[in-house]
Amino acid sequence: GDDSAPVPLERRRQQERLFRILVVDDDRGARFALRETLLGEGYEVVDAGNGQQAVQICRQQAPDLVILDGVMPVMDGFQSCEVIRSLPECASIPILIVTGLNDDASVDKAFSVGATDYISKPINYAVLRRRIDHMLQVHSAEKRVHQLAYIDSLTGRPNRTKLNEHMDALFSDTSRKDKQFALLFLDLDNFKLVNDTLGHEAGDLLLKYVSERLTGCVRKGDLVARFGGDEFCIVLDGVRSYEMVRNIAEKIHDHLKRPFVFLGREMLLSMSIGIAVYPEHGQDAVSLLKAADMAMYDAKKSQKGFGFYESHLESDNLERLELENDLRNAIARDELLLYYQPQEDLSTGQIFGLEALIRWQHPRRGLVSPAEFIHLAEETGLINDIGLWVLCTICEQINAWMDRGFAAPRVAINLSARQLANPNLATTFREVISDSRLPADLIEFEITESTIMERPDEMIDMLKELKAMGTRLAIDDFGTGYSSLVQLHRLPFSEIKIDRTFVSGCTTSSESRSIVRLVIELAHALGMKAVAEGVETADALRMLRDMGCDEAQGAFIAQPLEAAEIPAAVLQHTESIWYRTSGPWSPTLPTS
Ligand code: C2E
Ligand code: MG
Ligand code: MG
Repeated sequence: GDDSAPVPLERRRQQERLFRILVVDDDRGARFALRETLLGEGYEVVDAGNGQQAVQICRQQAPDLVILDGVMPVMDGFQSCEVIRSLPECASIPILIVTGLNDDASVDKAFSVGATDYISKPINYAVLRRRIDHMLQVHSAEKRVHQLAYIDSLTGRPNRTKLNEHMDALFSDTSRKDKQFALLFLDLDNFKLVNDTLGHEAGDLLLKYVSERLTGCVRKGDLVARFGGDEFCIVLDGVRSYEMVRNIAEKIHDHLKRPFVFLGREMLLSMSIGIAVYPEHGQDAVSLLKAADMAMYDAKKSQKGFGFYESHLESDNLERLELENDLRNAIARDELLLYYQPQEDLSTGQIFGLEALIRWQHPRRGLVSPAEFIHLAEETGLINDIGLWVLCTICEQINAWMDRGFAAPRVAINLSARQLANPNLATTFREVISDSRLPADLIEFEITESTIMERPDEMIDMLKELKAMGTRLAIDDFGTGYSSLVQLHRLPFSEIKIDRTFVSGCTTSSESRSIVRLVIELAHALGMKAVAEGVETADALRMLRDMGCDEAQGAFIAQPLEAAEIPAAVLQHTESIWYRTSGPWSPTLPTS
């Protein structure tokens, strides 16, 4: 029956390795004989009667192996071998030249035009079979090595090594009349979040989809490479104007913003794209990549999506490095300091607490605001040391006030995302607070709504740990972070701080007023207190009080003040709380 000894063709098919061999000979009889033999061996065969046809076929079909008769009219086997070898897609394919003349000269010639091997006429088929087999094996091994070296295994796209070689080829190709090309450096904006929340497999899948979508955005000749992690590079060749590159970058940016549907959910992503153009922004791969990377960093920071390299980025970058270096030494050099902004209880008009706000007394820049360096501290991880310094300083300060006979105020401390991601945070903080011998509920931690909502599931454990220490928790800058009610309910907060944009708008815009009223109601419904920040006028303060807001802070009540100014400023505002203690100190404040 049919299932007895399988014919070679089927065996090859089973192995899914059907090799295509191109046979080129002007002698029809010889060609036919070779063809039949190879077909019988299970190869797919294409044939050509002359060298020009052979080159044409190689261009279109990229065979796995070529057998060329050395002697042919018009373009002989040696000439066509040279041409085929120069085709980019055929640079490494095995080429076997059939020499009728078994002399050293033609053998040397065969190798000098790039032939892989030669065989002499009349053809010994047993030898031919073995030679073909060997050449194909070596070639596929070479291909695998090439793949490992040049192809990113996850996305199947060229990798960083290939990207560099591709650019090197563009630099050195003197035949190109249009020498300009653009390098796009792309980085996913929130990929870490995907990986952390959905797992690495989902992350990998998403990277594949991203690479496919990127490939679909550019022309066939453009290179889309995976640079590493969630970074991709695109080389756009033959660019004629910045405008054209800008349009392509915009297109890519827009395409990436469309939802990705996979694993039964819809994901929204965005990318920041930095663009460097050769030769204006760099003359070699290293400097072009650096320029594109800097432009990407700038696009990400300013959230503009994409942007070209500009020379000022270099000095910005230097400045940033310098600032980073200075910040590393800021604690040791005692350059950090805390300001304290009093908080008023709206029902009694009394000051019950302070929000600690950090400043950096920089030796050359003067007083630097947290808006200018907290971000940097987060990126570099310095925020952990800084946060610890803040807590220690506050505990010392409260004790110092108490030693001078003042009652202890409650102090609120701002925590940022990176601090909450530190698994040791609660343990370290617990030690500091217990060493200070202060009651934990004097300390309140403020976490912005956007920080919490970025990854509520991860936050919740850390928040619960902090809460379990006996400290209080407040949601900061509320109204800007799109929280869901479900999540709010699960989180152990005692206060909601209404973002100052709504508070300041509240006297002039009915929309802001409604938002403020809603947030107050929401806070109360959840059993939390509503705190207004950025109260700048008497009108606003009155309105907030009428709406039932519990607490407030802002320039109208008091600016952030240095520690030394606090007792005087506060005593002047309300004398009832900041009193000299005569007897033993009591941690609870005489507020409502
Ligand atoms: P935040 O926690 O929302 O702090 C309130 C900000 O509003 C402070 O800015 C404060 O000076 C300012 N402010 C106070 N009253 C008024 C007012 O009446 N009108 C207006 N327009 N603004 C007012 P600051 O001190 O520049 O702090 C900015 C942000 O930096 C803080 O926002 C907080 O998120 C962060 N930050 C401050 N200190 C620390 C810290 O020690 N650690 C961490 N991680 N972040 C901090
Ligand atoms: Mg705050
Ligand atoms: Mg705030």
